[in-house]
Amino acid sequence: MIYWLLIVAMLVSSCKEPDEPAIRILTGGIRHESNTFVSVLTQEGDFTQLRGSDVLKQAQWAEHFAGTNIEIIPTLHAYARPYGVVSREAFEKFMNEIIEGAENAGRIDGVFLDMHGALHAEGYDDAQAYFVSALRQVVGDDVLISGSFDLHGNMSKDFVSRLDILTAYRTAPHIDAVETRIRAMELLIDAIKNDYKPVIAHIPVPLLIPGEKGITFTEPLKSIYERLPVIAEKEGLMDASIFIGCAWSDLYRTSITVQVVAKDSSYLELAENEAESLAVTLWDARDELDFEVPVAEIDDAIKMALDHYPETVYISDSGDNTTAGAAGDVPLVLEKLIEKGVDDAIVAGITDRDAVRTCKAAGAGAVVQLTVGGKIDKVFGQPFSFEGTVKKVVRTSYNDTAAIVQAGGISVVLLSQRRSFTMINDFEELGIDPLGHQIVVVKLGYLFPELREIAPHAIMALTPGTAYQVIENLPYLNIRRPVYPLDPEMTWQPQFD
Ligand SMILES: [Zn+2]
Repeated sequence: MIYWLLIVAMLVSSCKEPDEPAIRILTGGIRHESNTFVSVLTQEGDFTQLRGSDVLKQAQWAEHFAGTNIEIIPTLHAYARPYGVVSREAFEKFMNEIIEGAENAGRIDGVFLDMHGALHAEGYDDAQAYFVSALRQVVGDDVLISGSFDLHGNMSKDFVSRLDILTAYRTAPHIDAVETRIRAMELLIDAIKNDYKPVIAHIPVPLLIPGEKGITFTEPLKSIYERLPVIAEKEGLMDASIFIGCAWSDLYRTSITVQVVAKDSSYLELAENEAESLAVTLWDARDELDFEVPVAEIDDAIKMALDHYPETVYISDSGDNTTAGAAGDVPLVLEKLIEKGVDDAIVAGITDRDAVRTCKAAGAGAVVQLTVGGKIDKVFGQPFSFEGTVKKVVRTSYNDTAAIVQAGGISVVLLSQRRSFTMINDFEELGIDPLGHQIVVVKLGYLFPELREIAPHAIMALTPGTAYQVIENLPYLNIRRPVYPLDPEMTWQPQFD
């Protein structure tokens, strides 16, 4: 009997494949879009910070690799809404934590960085390049580093050259954030398994456009972005990206850039040819990159909106777009609506912690005198005083407090924390039906997908602020010149950086 058991045991063990060692991938990231025109720093407390197993539990891209032979070693993933330059203290703390994670990780086969690409930190010329080079010193030159990015990243040659693989979102407004991260991971795994030595062709295109002119769902960008997956499929190539960049960042590296990743240096020339062809197409299309919704100065925008009566019109207060890093406390549009006697509008919302506190203390039904705005953005925002009745004060799903104040026909949402209304639920949780009003003012540039879906009409008001759409009016000092359209007469031939 024992003899037979032994035979069976031997048969079972001989049928079993030896366990393949797991591919061990270290992951971390510091994601931020830094608007250098904002005078306030983004501090550590502004960041959502995921550590250790929380990364695996909460990051959707990580779920995709659960139950596979890929072992993900999480460090820190820190993310904050776009705002001013990141404080030196916050940047160094996050960087050091990720590097320490790498030091303690044991054997690593690859590194996946989850970045935005437009991070700028106080005291650094190029904080992202510095971060990767410090990380490189720990993991060594043979461990591949792959990064996923938002296409609004401003990518320098220095930074790109320290990465082995990169890929960026291919949609704006973004609907492919998770799949981009999965792609960056899969490209990395593919390169590790096949022992590729990837190289990246990187080419800056001297074009500066506000994100609102960089919509990928309409032409000309739609067709140009559709070329990316086709290029990535070519023999010897791995991926292709176009970064629209973040124009509200006065840095030498700010511009559109193109990258094509080759499996190894023998395919670099092919990657360069493809990158050059994309770059030339973008340059040639420069005058077609335009706003896709009607744009107008604020007075005209309100007039145009009223002409649509009784249909609802969304007006984007685009200069004070917090999703582009602006302060969210410029009260100009509210002032204009009151001045013009508009009798059915919502202003969602204006950031003013003091005003929210006043409303909370006064309580629902109380008449309050408020002076709002101009407390964060002191350059473009002038404080504005008005009288209104507190309708309600609500704790929201963003963990902030919103006060709704009725001033004549205008419902003003005051927020204790700077943010934009991007989704339908942002209105619903305050008991507001946006389509029940004639004008809905949001501090956005383009409407985010959910709002875009329901908005009968949308007008982008070219309002002043640190996310000014009229970029020619911003005080650029450091940007690489010449750049179109600041230097409208310039000519350009593609050159690799
Ligand atoms: Zn973006």
